[in-house]
Amino acid sequence: MRICAKMRCDAEPVVTVSLGYAEREVVIVGLLTERDRNLLDLCREHVDRMTPPVGWTVRDERTQVPALT
Ligand SMILES: [Zn+2]
Repeated sequence: MRICAKMRCDAEPVVTVSLGYAEREVVIVGLLTERDRNLLDLCREHVDRMTPPVGWTVRDERTQVPALT
């Protein structure tokens, strides 16, 4: 079972986040089917609360957002 990458959070992840160190860019995409150890799976709460490092930009490429239940 996949859980959020944040410590002490066991919520179901809804997005996958990759960090582009060269581009200083945080890219948010819909949850990938395959887990990638280099990427972060985050739950809705933690992606909403995520703040990028200073000087970084966030590129949100989520194509579909799961409906709130
Ligand atoms: Zn979480």
